[in-house]
Amino acid sequence: MLRRGVIVLLSRLRWASHFAWHLRGQSRFPFLPLAAVQRRQAERVRRMAGHAFRTVPYYRETFRRLGLGPADFRDAGDLSRLPVLEREHIQKDPEYFCSEAVPRSDLLRITSGGSCGAPRLVLHDPRGVFENAAHGERERSIWTRIIGRTSGYRELVVAPPHSTTSKVQQYCRERGLYPRGVGIEREYASLVDPPETTARHINAFRPHVVHSYGSHLAILFGYLARSGASIHRPAVVTYTSDSLSPSVRTLIEQRFGIPVFTTYQAVEAFKIGFECERHCGVHLNIDLYPLRVVDRADRDLPTGESGEVIVSNLVNRGMVLLNYRLGDIVTLLPERCTCGRSLPLLSFPQGRSDDLIEFASGRIVHPQAIRGVFNEERLIWEYQVEQLNDTHFRVALLAAPACDREASRHRVVENLERVLGRGLRIDVAFVDSIDRTLGGKFAPVISRRARQRRAAAASLA
Ligand SMILES: [Zn+2]
Repeated sequence: MLRRGVIVLLSRLRWASHFAWHLRGQSRFPFLPLAAVQRRQAERVRRMAGHAFRTVPYYRETFRRLGLGPADFRDAGDLSRLPVLEREHIQKDPEYFCSEAVPRSDLLRITSGGSCGAPRLVLHDPRGVFENAAHGERERSIWTRIIGRTSGYRELVVAPPHSTTSKVQQYCRERGLYPRGVGIEREYASLVDPPETTARHINAFRPHVVHSYGSHLAILFGYLARSGASIHRPAVVTYTSDSLSPSVRTLIEQRFGIPVFTTYQAVEAFKIGFECERHCGVHLNIDLYPLRVVDRADRDLPTGESGEVIVSNLVNRGMVLLNYRLGDIVTLLPERCTCGRSLPLLSFPQGRSDDLIEFASGRIVHPQAIRGVFNEERLIWEYQVEQLNDTHFRVALLAAPACDREASRHRVVENLERVLGRGLRIDVAFVDSIDRTLGGKFAPVISRRARQRRAAAASLA
């Protein structure tokens, strides 16, 4: 018993010191000359290519098939020699992309319904998770300057119950060792709760930071502005996962006087970029996550042209994802930021056709709440929930052959009623394929407003 306790303690100390080691210099890193950042990037590319070739079945086979060896990967430009990985690939066989050198029991497992509508499993190794936590200092140092303290501050995370953020934080808490007062004091609120409840939580907890999804900030601050309810004013509001309209950003910054910051992250790549105090876009952590913006034929687009994101993760050695299509629509910005950071700038990602589900009663449901219904439906490959009018929803499901359709239909309707409300008409159909939008993008949740926008776009086309 004592022996086991000592082993656990040593393991926690090991990860805590790994975190502390990687934390050094992070807040200053973005200010290094670009050439130094690119050198670090190239070192990471070489290390990850070697690791992938030696220990990951997919890369071993792909390198051989293409006649490539680890020595062919000298810098980030060489990553595009690999085929573009699609979400469907890791969805169908996640193990194929996992390293044989990392024990499965150590991996952080994240299932995500994701905005692409197809649940998938992404696995992260503990080294990478703790290094990511340290890399977060690049953005945290901007917020903590405003808060006026670097640790022991309070953060309220408004997210779905099993969000990636909360899973990562729990994983680090369970495995690391943080003396009292050193870490961040966090509480969690559910994104599905009405804004009145979140406002009460903010007043009770008095957080320095409120973190949520962009579209949820629209619900929360829209309610606060309309109702005039008194609210504890956090020092900083941060968001991720989907876009924030300029009008809501202005509302939070000017009416409430709270600076707003976004971070760009994905389940497959935790720390792609962050917004600085000049608010002109997202600084890219290119040493960790080299990113390409491509056209429909996957050719690199020049700076200033908008296209789809393809990213390589040079941090996670558990599941190795190189040249992987994230699919967000973005633009690399030509200008250098006046803040002095050399990390290149990306336009604010616009999310993926996320629209809020609104009812005539004024009630609003976040699309993430609907995605949550499908997170654990492993045999439903794709879904689309469409709001036809105030009381009528249409659901299309693309299911695996092994799926028990009647049981799934029953469960989906019941869980959707829990999120959307009782007394609605919810028609469920099993289909062979789900329509893409004009740009080939897939929208798992289509609000009434999004339908109208699509119809208008189609009539123009
Ligand atoms: Zn900047």
